[in-house]
Amino acid sequence: MLAIMKLFSCDECGQQLYFESTSCTRCGCRLGYDAERRDLRVLSERPGHAPELVEERDGKQRVLRACLNAVEHDACNWLVPQPSDSAYCASCALSQTIPDLSLEANVVAWKRLESAKRRLLFTLQALGLPVVPKSVAPETGLAFRFLRGTLEAPVTTGHEDGLITLDVAEADPAYREQQRQKLGEKYRTTLGHLRHEIGHYYFDRLIADGRRTAAFRELFGDERADYGAALERHYKQGPPADWEQTHISAYATMHPWEDWAETFAHYLHMVDTLETAQSYGLAVRTPDASSGTVRASRVDVDEFASLMEGFHAVTLALNGLNRSMGHPDAYPFAVCPRASDKLEFVHRTIRDHEQQRRPTG
Ligand SMILES: [Zn+2]
Ligand SMILES: [Zn+2]
Repeated sequence: MLAIMKLFSCDECGQQLYFESTSCTRCGCRLGYDAERRDLRVLSERPGHAPELVEERDGKQRVLRACLNAVEHDACNWLVPQPSDSAYCASCALSQTIPDLSLEANVVAWKRLESAKRRLLFTLQALGLPVVPKSVAPETGLAFRFLRGTLEAPVTTGHEDGLITLDVAEADPAYREQQRQKLGEKYRTTLGHLRHEIGHYYFDRLIADGRRTAAFRELFGDERADYGAALERHYKQGPPADWEQTHISAYATMHPWEDWAETFAHYLHMVDTLETAQSYGLAVRTPDASSGTVRASRVDVDEFASLMEGFHAVTLALNGLNRSMGHPDAYPFAVCPRASDKLEFVHRTIRDHEQQRRPTG
């Protein structure tokens, strides 16, 4: 069962906050994200000490300290439960390599990537998907590399054996928009990159063990197809003309692995967007043809049909709001029935996994 996100607000003054907030815009108090409670907490500050939260719970003292990246670089808002072997939070500890922070442009870019990573992890946590650091489980764990490419040594964004590499240049909006246009993409964000690459990671965790292979191939195709040849064909010929009848994006047509990763990323977009919409109290209104009225319904994010219907309604509203502000559509996709079937496969795979993990009784 998915935890419904509550609206973040300041415990001190009630001001509404964002998941990304580091301090309250009204009362100025320092904030930190408590992953166990999935909430932003007010921290106390003492000179010479990292901001921290000390509370009594069930007769025990609980201490949470600001991540070292928050203290040193203002690059994080997550808390580290004490005692801890690491001065870094669960998100920052996953960053195996970061760019050279003596260059200001790298600092700006790195902060954006870490912020996108925290949001990614927030949704994975809501879905009960395991996040084990590579430092703990070298074979099956997860780690990130944020690298600045050079002309001689360009960086390719991708995933390999649990190691996700992202080109730091992608954090620059001008560069990203240029790439988006060059590649004819409808959507390109750092968060989207991370959600796509983590899709490859979870393919290895949730599909490649064989139990779902047959069902996977029926929907996505045979992933044993030569990847190099598929890549070459895609960049030479482009996607099939009718790709919108079968896939969630043009890139998804390249190879079944990419189709899975694109679909997985889309599923995370859906869950996060709906969770956020519900936290703001956005009700989904659907016209009721029989009575000629409009009914408001609550989305059940555990039921795929309800999730899909709710998401469709929310994205229409979202695009409407964007148009009111003169922006392009926030959600520039159309989900064809076949892509919807693939999303449902992702939904069931994640739900089944969560149920297996949950202790019975
Ligand atoms: Zn406040
Ligand atoms: Zn951190």
